[in-house]
Amino acid sequence: MEDYHLTQSDFERWFSTQESCIEYLIKVRWPQGPRCPKCQGTRLWRYGMTLKCSGCRASFRLLAGTMFQDSHLSLVDWFRIMWFISNQKFGLTAMELHKSLGISYSTGWNILRKLRKAMVPAGGELLTGTVEVDEAFIGGLIDGAKGDSKTSNQVLVVMAAELDGKSIGRVRVQQIPSATEENLFDFIRSSLKIGTTVITDGWMGYQGLGNNGYLHKVKIMNQEKKALPNIHKMVTLMKRWLLGSLKKFPNKEYLDYYLDEYTFRFNHRRAIMGGQMFLRLVEKALITPPLMREDIRARNIEEQKLFFELPMSNQDIPLF
Ligand SMILES: [Zn+2]
Repeated sequence: MEDYHLTQSDFERWFSTQESCIEYLIKVRWPQGPRCPKCQGTRLWRYGMTLKCSGCRASFRLLAGTMFQDSHLSLVDWFRIMWFISNQKFGLTAMELHKSLGISYSTGWNILRKLRKAMVPAGGELLTGTVEVDEAFIGGLIDGAKGDSKTSNQVLVVMAAELDGKSIGRVRVQQIPSATEENLFDFIRSSLKIGTTVITDGWMGYQGLGNNGYLHKVKIMNQEKKALPNIHKMVTLMKRWLLGSLKKFPNKEYLDYYLDEYTFRFNHRRAIMGGQMFLRLVEKALITPPLMREDIRARNIEEQKLFFELPMSNQDIPLF
């Protein structure tokens, strides 16, 4: 859809009924009109949530293979939640969804899990041009503030920030166990297009970049802060966002979900209020398969953790 300037009243007008949500999903999924997955025929009839091909007689469910498959929530509710999330600066917790939209806590928890899965960057969205890459430790401090005696919650992440003139373009972040050449290369290969100019510090883990299809520039200064200013800005923003969203530092096990959400939000930061993030979320939800069993596995632990969130007052920090 081309309209990237959805307002609150547009949203309410357009997506107030199950039928209007279905019609919209069909348009997003098949911009040229629905096609039969078997014979590619274009003469299809819809019966509720099922499409039937008049050519080969095959019938298929409209939402099969998407995140909305088998959900007990109505599409109107799904759309309300996605709209709500898209208009928040911070990430949301299930408790906030419950309080703001009246969605039950456990449903809210599952929905957030699914939507974060939809926020994972797709392979085709590789960073390009000139990109700063660096590692940083995050966490620890926030847990300490909670009075937690365990201070080893520091996590190493590797980050990439695309340079867009004087500001930051798109970003990628990922947790890594250590800053070995292998871990760094895995991240770079899955995040940056071959041929990209990569700026790093002098760490030996990056030394092979030039022989692997990238243009490697090393910046060494006494103060690393000055060498890679964009990455450092990003670390600060990311820590602030995690703290503002979760009120505490997430467990290592769940950090990736939040990093994906952060990345998605950061990469859509200029359009959050214009509805573009909502539209992207709908598109991604349509190509993200339903949640698998292992995704649900850890649910109870996380649920308990969220109930013990600390209150937080600085909701108004400018983020991006
Ligand atoms: Zn057919």
